[in-house]
Amino acid sequence: MSAISAHPGLRGGNHRRVVHALRRHGALTRAALADGGLSRSTVTAVVAELLETGLLIEISDPARDGRATGRPPTLVRLNGELGVTVGVEIANGIVRAAVCDVAQELLAHDSIATDDQADPRTTLAATSTLIDELLERTGFGRDRVIGVGLAVPGPIQRRTGLTGRACTLKPWAGINPSTVATEVLHLPALADNDANLAALAELTWGAARGLRDYAYIYTAKGIGAGFVINGEIYAGANGTAGEIGHTTLNEDGLVCECGGRGCLNTLANPDAIAQQLWQIHGRRLRLAEVIDLAQAGDAGCRRVLADAGRHIGVAMANMYNLLDPELIVIGGNLAAAGAMLIDPLHQSMVRRAIHAGEAVPAVVAGALDPETVVVVGAAAAVLRDSATFPLPA
Ligand SMILES: [Zn+2]
Repeated sequence: MSAISAHPGLRGGNHRRVVHALRRHGALTRAALADGGLSRSTVTAVVAELLETGLLIEISDPARDGRATGRPPTLVRLNGELGVTVGVEIANGIVRAAVCDVAQELLAHDSIATDDQADPRTTLAATSTLIDELLERTGFGRDRVIGVGLAVPGPIQRRTGLTGRACTLKPWAGINPSTVATEVLHLPALADNDANLAALAELTWGAARGLRDYAYIYTAKGIGAGFVINGEIYAGANGTAGEIGHTTLNEDGLVCECGGRGCLNTLANPDAIAQQLWQIHGRRLRLAEVIDLAQAGDAGCRRVLADAGRHIGVAMANMYNLLDPELIVIGGNLAAAGAMLIDPLHQSMVRRAIHAGEAVPAVVAGALDPETVVVVGAAAAVLRDSATFPLPA
């Protein structure tokens, strides 16, 4: 480890650009690195130096395996031994954490149960123990942690760093989660909204890899969206960009927890879905049960999921008309309903979206494991921020 710890190769700006591109995108060909604005010859020289110092390693391109025998390895990536990032998701009743290396490999993840009413410091102290356990499993010490990405279920104001009151975990509203996490975890931390980080995960590793403009719909206790515009997450001034669950669908509808009426969340979140099935099932069904029953042919459950898709499609059409994304990815707990949800959603969206001769974008389920999509997104956010989170010395 000591041979690569001095990073002699990072002295120059071109070296930093190459490392930054690999932190953002993972393994790349030299040609793809040259697309970032450096000349081919500069990339070749810089990569050779970084390989020499041990900062980069070469790997074979899986796309070429078995086709071009005898070809040299064609991808370069950061040496995974350099360090790790930690992703943490603070969710309702549960905290998940993941350790990823700088080569964008998920090394370990796990979760613990938490109390929604607990003080954030109490929750983070338990999280700190979970992080230590995961680090022990992966063989990395705390000195190898570049930073922690923390996902919270609410908006974060850009100017103040404070969590807004729309946070679904009330003790977390009005605090600065990155400051508190840095203090309690004794590790540098950033914080962002869970939907934004899930959007980043699908952009980095999943269904939206390589796209510039796309929308990610995250369905949890509420329905949120993460927007990627020009290759970057768009959060808005108050962090409330993407609070699509609070789009008004019925001006005279039920009162929502935000104080509005007839928000999408009052029609299509897990509570609303359970409410509509109460009468015929005589109890509150969990969303996973609703999806299982629907898959087994229960007409009422199929109907309610299709209606949820239709409602989300109305909100999607309005979003599409404003932002014009090239793809919509749906993730979170509702995504498991698959075509039962997505087909009516897409039909509803197509019916209302602007048609200027262009095809309305496809709606697809996320490609990543729903359990870890947010935590790997939180780890990706740390990897992308080379300025705040340098490689360990
Ligand atoms: Zn609302």
